[in-house]
Amino acid sequence: MGRIYNFSAGPAVLPEEVLREAAEEMLDYKGSGMSVMEMSHRSKTYDSIIKEAEADLRELMNIPSNYKVLFLQGGASLQFAAIPMNLMKNGIADYIVTGEWAKKAYQEACMYGKANKIASSEDKTFSYIPDCSDLPISKQADYVYICENNTIYGTKFKTLPNTKGKPLVADVSSCFLSEPVDVTNYGVIYGGVQKNIGPAGVVIVIIREDLITDDVLPGTPTMMKFKTHSDAQSLYNTPPAYGIYICGKVFKWIKNMGGLDAMKAHNEAKAKILYDYLDQSKLFKGTVVKEDRSLMNVPFITGNDALDEKFIKEAKAAGFDSLKGHRSVGGMRASIYNAMPIEGVEKLVEFMKKFEEENQ
Ligand SMILES: *Cc1c(COP(=O)(O)O)cnc(C)c1O
Repeated sequence: MGRIYNFSAGPAVLPEEVLREAAEEMLDYKGSGMSVMEMSHRSKTYDSIIKEAEADLRELMNIPSNYKVLFLQGGASLQFAAIPMNLMKNGIADYIVTGEWAKKAYQEACMYGKANKIASSEDKTFSYIPDCSDLPISKQADYVYICENNTIYGTKFKTLPNTKGKPLVADVSSCFLSEPVDVTNYGVIYGGVQKNIGPAGVVIVIIREDLITDDVLPGTPTMMKFKTHSDAQSLYNTPPAYGIYICGKVFKWIKNMGGLDAMKAHNEAKAKILYDYLDQSKLFKGTVVKEDRSLMNVPFITGNDALDEKFIKEAKAAGFDSLKGHRSVGGMRASIYNAMPIEGVEKLVEFMKKFEEENQ
């Protein structure tokens, strides 16, 4: 039995080496006589797992010492509320709405204060990133919010918005560790790990220290205060212990691959194979403005729903899984995260060429 090529948007493909290592350590983690799943999160052994994971992430992303790294739960979606609850000191925030996830974050923030939609690409079904070089940033805004890579629509901010001095908050769920970033450009970088880093159940929040305070909205649950988790170094309560352990292994895998510069080169090479083919195909076409194309999520269509369906079905039978587009947009989407090998994309394109010949 072999592994197939998994193009799922998330939970998504993980490096085979990591899964094998985890399998080897399943019953007896390094002579402890137990699985990491069975281990106290207060044990010395677990303490070194979480500390090492944080240290490796800090090294990979070059995270400055005035930023905290938090390993949390509740999915990226819980952060849609946690961010306004913790950061809306003036009760005002500016949102750039470039897709469903940014829209959900914006709608959630509206429950806690005055959230302003200062830019949107909804007029063209989120197929582009608006010009964010000179937006009407509110004078009193506590932060400016973006979803940096739009998982459903396949767009990515290639330049960060000019926030005119306000802290930038970015949901990077689907582009986490896909390329180098300058952490100092952000107030908060966060994401669910199930797209590009590990198993569902872990959310990583990287936050500038001065944004972590006790001055949160009245009624903010203890568990949703960044300060709670920052003070306790992500061990206020039981963390998603096994998930963090797998994330740590993926950090080491990325380090072995050469770090984020190497990841970027690997991801660019993969995306180029697929986009180059789409650009010359007479059957398939990409749905996104070229300059804003994501390296991670590649949506495409034939323009004929029945043919799309036939393609998805035949692709699945040939070992290319989860190519169906998001239920809100239809068509196809190939998610080609860090752990997707280049052969996976090459073989997919071969399959698409064959399908194109057979369905002219
Ligand atoms: C998947 C996704 C989410 C939702 O994540 P959950 O962990 O399921 O809450 C939010 N934002 C982006 C960009 C995503 O891709």
